[in-house]
Amino acid sequence: MSDRLRAADEQLRLEQCSREPIRTPGRIQSHGMLFVVDNSTHEIVVASENARRYLGTRLDHPQIVEALDAGTVVDPVRVTFDDEQFDAIIHPGDTTSIVELEQTIVGVEYARTSVVSAIQRLAFINDPEELRNTAAELIRSITGFDRVMVYHFHDDGHGEVVAESRADDMAPYLGLHFPASDIPSQARHLYTTKLSRAIVSTEDPGLDLLADSIEPMSIDLGATELRMVSPYHLAYMRNMGQASTVSFSKVKDGVLIGMITCAHRTPRRLPILLRRALEVLATQLAFQLDSMEKIRVLRHEVEVRERRAALLSPLFASDDVMSALLRGSATVLDLVPADGVAVRHGDKTYTLGTVPPATAIRAVMDAVGDNHLASHVLGRVRPDLAELIPDYPGLIVVPLGSGDCITFFRRAITHVVDWLGDPGPQNRADALSPRLSFEAWRESVADSGDPWGSAVQEAIDLGEALKGAMARRAEARLAELALHDALTGLRNRRFLAENLERALVERQQADSVSLLFLDLDGFKSVNDSYGHDAGDAVIVEVARRIVANSRTADAVARLGGDEFVIVCEHTTPQEAHLIAERIVRAVGKPIDAKGVTVTVTASCGIVTADDASSGARLLEAADAAMYRAKAEGRNRVAT
Ligand code: GH3
Ligand code: MG
Repeated sequence: MSDRLRAADEQLRLEQCSREPIRTPGRIQSHGMLFVVDNSTHEIVVASENARRYLGTRLDHPQIVEALDAGTVVDPVRVTFDDEQFDAIIHPGDTTSIVELEQTIVGVEYARTSVVSAIQRLAFINDPEELRNTAAELIRSITGFDRVMVYHFHDDGHGEVVAESRADDMAPYLGLHFPASDIPSQARHLYTTKLSRAIVSTEDPGLDLLADSIEPMSIDLGATELRMVSPYHLAYMRNMGQASTVSFSKVKDGVLIGMITCAHRTPRRLPILLRRALEVLATQLAFQLDSMEKIRVLRHEVEVRERRAALLSPLFASDDVMSALLRGSATVLDLVPADGVAVRHGDKTYTLGTVPPATAIRAVMDAVGDNHLASHVLGRVRPDLAELIPDYPGLIVVPLGSGDCITFFRRAITHVVDWLGDPGPQNRADALSPRLSFEAWRESVADSGDPWGSAVQEAIDLGEALKGAMARRAEARLAELALHDALTGLRNRRFLAENLERALVERQQADSVSLLFLDLDGFKSVNDSYGHDAGDAVIVEVARRIVANSRTADAVARLGGDEFVIVCEHTTPQEAHLIAERIVRAVGKPIDAKGVTVTVTASCGIVTADDASSGARLLEAADAAMYRAKAEGRNRVAT
């Protein structure tokens, strides 16, 4: 039977099971008595078959009456009834209340103490697996049941036996899965408030509820201890070889996340107070497991965030997205575990790992467009894409804007699930019937990738972080451009103005700031003779020579045209003079510009800042000094 047919079959069973009435079957288990009592008159208006003699009489047991009048849920009260000891459990209601009487089990009063020490022992365990195993062991030794199983419910509702303690001669169920329909939704809902259920004997035919004036089938027995379970569930237990069970809910945020089930091959009953104590243990277990899971998730998130930051940090200094993501010692595949990844950036697509052919990748990227997509069963959600990349049922597409995207691929793997009995219809008498055999049954499905789990969110977060890094990079480049000259890459006039003011403010009395103002001689003729491109090449070469002949700390700017300014901080006028002469000499050597050899000279003016200098005035003075150099014959330095 195909995977999809099985899913449909399970869906049908889930729907049918969810309509089964579980709260009002009108019968109770026969190891106790049940009354419905009128709150104002204390008259017994409903009685179980085995207590029919009390029907219509007034319930006058003082402790029960006191509890009834209190109108709140109280712990079970120990009462004597017909010379026998009972634990009375009272469920207060608006006009009537339910009173249950369970015959007291003698000799197990101290079992509750073992639960207390079990809780204390469990509280110190930090490993989830050890915690579940120890809980199963302890509960089996406290209850004396043949088998104790800890179930975990997966997100789709299907369950798994995640810990087990059992008698040596029993088949192991550990690691086996069972379908969600084993526990219908209304039962799951009930189990979040009714934290334990006891079924004392699967052979128990049960007792009818009797009444004179009301319809017994209308009484909600959901909260009662003696509630009779559905015949389907009894058959389920019998088919599993269980005569009695007690199960405890693991509830988190109002959702049933798991159960602990104790099963025995012969009828067996635990006293109510022990069941209550074990409810506390189960709740404690749920809390502990939940906080361990939260810690695990947080640790993982921190780790992923650190790895992401490390991966993207090179992008602050480089535009090379591909090197950052795909070529380093750690790659994007360390962040999102996949068989392969393809990154489209601009008109280029780069890949790493095992990926589909380039044309198929392109087709997938184009088809998905600017949308997120994540699936490990691509054939089911996007058959059109699955056709393009048939070997890769696992796909995540993270758009990065303007057509860029990251795409992760996972190949098909064989999923093996060991079921607690074949869940298919061939193992049932009819759709609603329980499985006939609970022998472990292995299912292999090979049409899907490994589920992505948290990797989907991690891929999306990576996409966002990458977009952020690229945007910051673009901003930084714009900011840089705003302070640079596009032709030579030197600083521009704006930078010079800002830098000069700062240099003047920081100027110490002892040392000086000198400004060199350089203008090429007769540069117009270079343009005129050889063309603008050759002129540009000359300017670029002149810029290079100025930088090469100034010091690292000197700021070189191109003001525009053929004018350059060099700011020399912490420099004596003598040193500034030497630098200026060196530069003028270097510029005057022949330049190879676009295949022609050009010789241009430069005139340079020098000024040194005094206390009164402002940036603008200094620049004017330097400009004037440069004109003096031109007037004195060019190709020289003047002050
Ligand atoms: P002078 O010796 O008096 O400085 O004469 P000059 O010819 O160098 O004249 P000036 O410095 O006043 O003019 C510089 C010329 O540089 C003006 C313009 O034609 C040219 N020019 C300005 N910017 C550029 C540029 O970016 N590229 C090129 N190729 N030429 C430029
Ligand atoms: Mg000039």
